[in-house]
Amino acid sequence: MNANTSRFIKQANLIGGQWVAADSGATIDVMNPATGKAIGTIPKSGKAETARAIEAAAQAFKSWRKTTANERSQKMRKLHDLILANQDALAEILTMEQGKSFTEAKGEVASSAAYILWYAEEARRVYGDVVPSPWADRRIMVTKEPVGVVAAITPWNFPSSMLARKIGPALATGCTVVVKPATQTPYSGLAWGVLCEEAGIPAGVVNILTGSASEIGGELTRNPQVAKLTFTGSTEIGKLLMKQTAGTVKKVSMELGGNAPFIVFDDADLDRAVAGAIAAKFRNSGQTCVCTNRFFVQSKIYSRFVEKFTEAVEQLKVGNGMDSGTQQGPLIDMNAVEKVEEFIADATKKGGRIVTGGKRHALGGSYFEPTVIADAKPRMRFTKEEIFGPVAPVYKFKSEEDVIEQANNTEYGLACYFYTQDLGRAFRVMEGLKYGLVGVNEGLISTVEAPFGGLKESGLGKEGGHQGIEDYLDTKYVCIGGLGL
Ligand code: NAP
Repeated sequence: MNANTSRFIKQANLIGGQWVAADSGATIDVMNPATGKAIGTIPKSGKAETARAIEAAAQAFKSWRKTTANERSQKMRKLHDLILANQDALAEILTMEQGKSFTEAKGEVASSAAYILWYAEEARRVYGDVVPSPWADRRIMVTKEPVGVVAAITPWNFPSSMLARKIGPALATGCTVVVKPATQTPYSGLAWGVLCEEAGIPAGVVNILTGSASEIGGELTRNPQVAKLTFTGSTEIGKLLMKQTAGTVKKVSMELGGNAPFIVFDDADLDRAVAGAIAAKFRNSGQTCVCTNRFFVQSKIYSRFVEKFTEAVEQLKVGNGMDSGTQQGPLIDMNAVEKVEEFIADATKKGGRIVTGGKRHALGGSYFEPTVIADAKPRMRFTKEEIFGPVAPVYKFKSEEDVIEQANNTEYGLACYFYTQDLGRAFRVMEGLKYGLVGVNEGLISTVEAPFGGLKESGLGKEGGHQGIEDYLDTKYVCIGGLGL
């Protein structure tokens, strides 16, 4: 690790512009999943440190909200440039703590920079309205204002870009933030503190805490000074946090779990579908919320798809993310490996056929073989549950109506994908699928310009697109009377 990388590895929390330890001095070890070795430690902060960070953010809000959109936009452009100038260092940290390949990590860091630039541009377009008045002597204005202190909690699978989607709109609108990154991948989160300092973002505007999730989360969701909670993570924790915020009626944005279907119709371009299937399943070793959970393939093309898909899966290079050519790194930890094994055991017991993979990788640790399971059936556990690993179950279907029903038969509604060359079918299926993101003949669709967000129990609100800024704004109606017109 060179000096530029190590300067971003902060083993402290950022509260009101100070890098500090936990009050108790307690720390947590952070491990590299590729080697099983410790990278360093982080403070084990709790309720008291969180209350202080919220206070710091509330104080900073008083002046930050008064800066002009142009000033904030300039600072964010600087932040964007800094991220790109340090792309390799930030990607190295990401790979080290998370396990994804260096190429994917660089892509994630680039996406973080893109979100910051997007919101730097959007900052200057937070328009209100002047509404035709029903009264001759009054005028009606609708204005937009920053909500205030924002609490942000993020998961380990995209430890850099999930924060970009939250810090970006907060900074753009004039909000301040208290951030809690995932305990397994904290350094990519803490690095945001270094970057924000270097970009000249004032002390207290961005605060970052690590430690006890329930204590930090408890304070973030119950403290009345926090106006909004934005969370990315599991549906289970999202529901818990929504309940906790109810006591102080906070705004909430939730980016939760998924159970993405990937449908291949008989008329699909098979090679294109196979390439899309690899991207939509095996990115980040299957550990993304938009990763395909269920492949549905129409009966005529089923065998050929399984064959070609398996050939492509067998080409995937598994290894340490820092080794050149690696496409699939280790899973985040041994719990993830055990969970994947449970899904496979359940499927084989119920008639699933392992076509490739199916077991721990010869590299040891939390490496797992990319796996394809043919003859998947509705009664198998992954029909309902998020796999979050490199396992691709392939179901066979007969008709369009039937597959739409099966695809929608889940409480989730984040991403879905389908392949067809029939234009009429493309529209029917797109309109029939109850999902927030739809890839038609594409397996990788996330981009900053488009609104990302789930339906049903996959979440509330959008990140990215022009929609992404709205959740950070209060709408205020102003009636100006007595004008004597
Ligand atoms: P998770 O267990 O829900 O954890 C997410 C974050 O919540 C972590 O920072 C975690 O802290 C924190 N947390 C856990 N318990 C908490 C509590 N009681 N109070 C406050 N915070 C708490 O999810 P994960 O396993 O890290 O991530 C995987 C999940 O995220 C999957 O379901 C995936 O689909 C979803 N996800 C969704 C999106 C999206 O945009 N829709 C994107 C990425 C991931 P600790 O790390 O300290 O436990």
